[in-house]
Amino acid sequence: MFYANDNFTKLPESYLFSEVTRRISVYKAEHPESDIIRMDIGDVSMPLGNSVIEAMQKAVEDMASCSTFHGYGPEQGYPFLRELIAENDYQLRGIFAIDAEDIFISDGAKSDIGNLGDIFGRDIKICIAEPAYPVYIDANILDGRKENITLLKCLHENGFKPELPAKPADVIYLCYPNNPTGVALSVEDLKCWVDYALQNRALIIYDSAYEAYVRQPDIARSIYEIEGAEKVAIEVRSFSKTAGFTGVRCGYTVVPKSLDFTFADGRISNLNKMWNRRQSTKFNGVGYIVQKAAAALYTPEGQQEVKALTDCYMSNAGSLREALLKKGFEVVGGENSPYVWFRGNGEKTSWEMFDYLLNKAEISSTPGSGFGQAGEGYLRFTGFNTPEKTRRAIERLIKYL
Ligand code: PLP
Repeated sequence: MFYANDNFTKLPESYLFSEVTRRISVYKAEHPESDIIRMDIGDVSMPLGNSVIEAMQKAVEDMASCSTFHGYGPEQGYPFLRELIAENDYQLRGIFAIDAEDIFISDGAKSDIGNLGDIFGRDIKICIAEPAYPVYIDANILDGRKENITLLKCLHENGFKPELPAKPADVIYLCYPNNPTGVALSVEDLKCWVDYALQNRALIIYDSAYEAYVRQPDIARSIYEIEGAEKVAIEVRSFSKTAGFTGVRCGYTVVPKSLDFTFADGRISNLNKMWNRRQSTKFNGVGYIVQKAAAALYTPEGQQEVKALTDCYMSNAGSLREALLKKGFEVVGGENSPYVWFRGNGEKTSWEMFDYLLNKAEISSTPGSGFGQAGEGYLRFTGFNTPEKTRRAIERLIKYL
C-alpha cells in the first residue's frame, strides 16, 4: 500500500511568499483601484543586458541547423561555462584551489540547496543560521531531519551574526551577504567558521547568491578566500540576482574535489564524485541557450552590465536604508546587499507591521518572522524594484511609519 512522505506534515503550513502573495491578492480584490508597490519578494525588475540577449539569440540560431544544434549536454554543465566561472569568479580573484571540474552548473541555487541533502547521511546534525532563507530548513525537514536541526539565532545582540555552535554540528548552513538581514561577513568573521569546520570535520554549505553585491573590500565574496575552505565547504551561487536570471534559471554549485568525508562506517567518500553521481542520476543539465547566456556575463560588456544592474539595486537599497535610519529606526543591510532589515517599534508583530503597511501605505514587505522566530518584529525590504517605484515607496514609508 502506498504511503505519502510523512515529513510533509512537519512543514510549516504555508510557504512564506505564498502567504504574502495571498494577502496582497485579498487586498487587491477589496481595493481594485489600489497601487501597491512590491518591496517584498526577491524578484528583480530590470531586463536582461544586451550581451545576454545577443548571446541567447545567437544560441537560438545555433539550434536551427544540424551542424550547430545541441541536444543533451553534460549533466555537470558545458566546459565553456565551467571554465569561465573557474577563471573569472575564482582564479582571477586569487583563489587557485578551485578549478572547472569543481563547478556544477545548475538551474538556479534553490534546486541545488534543496537537493544537496541527497549526499548527507540521514542522522547528521544540522545547524542553520536564523533568520534564514526557508529552503534550508524545509528541505531538511522533507529529508527527515526535522529533529536534527539546531538554529543559530542572529539577533540585534550579536550583530545578526551567528555564534559558533555550542554542540558539535555536522553540516552548517551560512548565507552571506545574508538573505534576509542583508548583513555580510568579513574575511575574518568567515575564517572562524572555516577553522571550526576544519577542527570538527563539519561541512559548510555556503550560499553566496548575493556575492555580486559586496562593495566593501574586507567583506568575503567566496568562502574559498579562506585557506582550507576547499576541504570543508560547498558554495552555492546564482545568476538570478547578479544578472536578472530569475526567469532564465541558471546558477552553479562548487563541490571541490578535495572534499573528502566518510560514510558512517568510516569508508572515504568524495563529495565531488557523489554530487556528480547524484546529478548524473537525477538531473539532465541546463539548456545550451541558457548556458550561452550565462557565458556572456563574463565578457567585458557582460561584466559592465552586471555592475550597472547591481549598482542600480544597491542604490535603491541604500536609499531605503538611509530613509529608515533618518526616521530613527534600527536598520541593517543595504551596504553589501540588496536587502534592508528593519525593526519596528516593538508594539507590532511582523505580520501586523506587514498588514499595516499594506493597508495604510500600499507597500508590500516581507515579514521577518517568515524567516524564523529570530525575525519576529522585523520586516525585510528589497532593493529589487525599479528606482522610480522605490522612490515612491520611500515617500510613503516616510509618511506612514
Ligand atoms: N539563496 C538565497 C539566499 C536566495 O535568496 C535565493 C532566492 O531568492 C536563492 C538562493 C535561489 O536563487 P535561484 O533563483 O538561483 O534559485
